[in-house]
Amino acid sequence: MSVLATPSVDNTRSRLVIDLDAIARNYAALQALTPKAETSAVVKANAYGLGAGPVARRLAKQGARTFFVATVEEGAAVREALGDPLPDIWVFAGYRAKDRPLYVKHRLGAILNQPGETAQFRAAPTGPCAIHIDTGMARLGYGAGDISGLLNALQNLDVSMIMSHLACSEDAASTQNLRQLERFTALTNALPETRLSLANTGGVLLGESYQFDVTRPGIGLYGATADLDADTPFEPVVKLEAPILQLREIDAGDTVGYGATYVAHSPRLVATVGAGYADGLPRALSGAGCARIAGLRAPILGRISMDLTTIDVTGLEHEIAQGAVPEFFGPDLYQAAALDGTLPYEILTGLGARAERIYKGAS
Ligand SMILES: *Cc1c(COP(=O)(O)O)cnc(C)c1O
Repeated sequence: MSVLATPSVDNTRSRLVIDLDAIARNYAALQALTPKAETSAVVKANAYGLGAGPVARRLAKQGARTFFVATVEEGAAVREALGDPLPDIWVFAGYRAKDRPLYVKHRLGAILNQPGETAQFRAAPTGPCAIHIDTGMARLGYGAGDISGLLNALQNLDVSMIMSHLACSEDAASTQNLRQLERFTALTNALPETRLSLANTGGVLLGESYQFDVTRPGIGLYGATADLDADTPFEPVVKLEAPILQLREIDAGDTVGYGATYVAHSPRLVATVGAGYADGLPRALSGAGCARIAGLRAPILGRISMDLTTIDVTGLEHEIAQGAVPEFFGPDLYQAAALDGTLPYEILTGLGARAERIYKGAS
């Protein structure tokens, strides 16, 4: 084994590079798929881990007028980032009277999920509200049996949207989709006429009958879908750049990493890079995933550790000498999710606790 001169990079910290222009192009692609509906933007969980402030600002510049978040605190952060009182920001979690001052101060829209929330909201409305009805997910929302009571509770309230959420939208063949569409149509026919919203990213891709007045895409904006078997129609928006901290040649029979799980069968050039599972690289990529250097594959050797990962850069000396930096995710996000037995959603929300964030196309 011998250590080679390290490339001349001073940076030892991983960088999460987020392409806001690519997010804006994905928004435009979603709009083009739904010419009759308003395309909103779901920026919950800090915009799926990518940074709610920069993402919401870029999407507002692109024309987004309606945003969705999970919690009141997320809504307040998005309003502060937007610095503009006009875009609507709706809160999925449901209304609690104790949060009224935050709803008013940040002009957040209350989504009423159940009778108790509507009663609290009626006592002192904060403005227009939305109603969430459950059509087959049994997670949040009014059930079919609550609808007659709901009609009374809505008297004198300004209802500006009725929404529901699809359980199986990533699977176009699932009969659950049509069942939910039929329930949504039947229940909303019994309620006051207002704007309707059913489709997340998968719902948008199911076609026009699912799109109604407002679509609610999240993952599509961030370059993926929930269907790992399909080609995503959206561009990758995020990559994790990991600096090369050390380079070494190893001989046949040498081992790499914790547990000595990788045994070289021929001489290899190994780069140790400064990113590990604490940076959001799933440990399940150990010995299975790859990085890219100037677009070329550099397989992960042995186990990913907390702060470091070892990759095979044999044959990539030229690219490294030119300053190319190893990158994870990007076009390999689906492969990473598949190897980790999860979805792009979970990978994205796990990124960047430590990485420096770099925004391309920030406004
Ligand atoms: C997260 C979420 C969305 C966005 O879903 P994607 O699959 O990311 O497009 C839409 N609506 C609700 C209610 C959600 O919780």
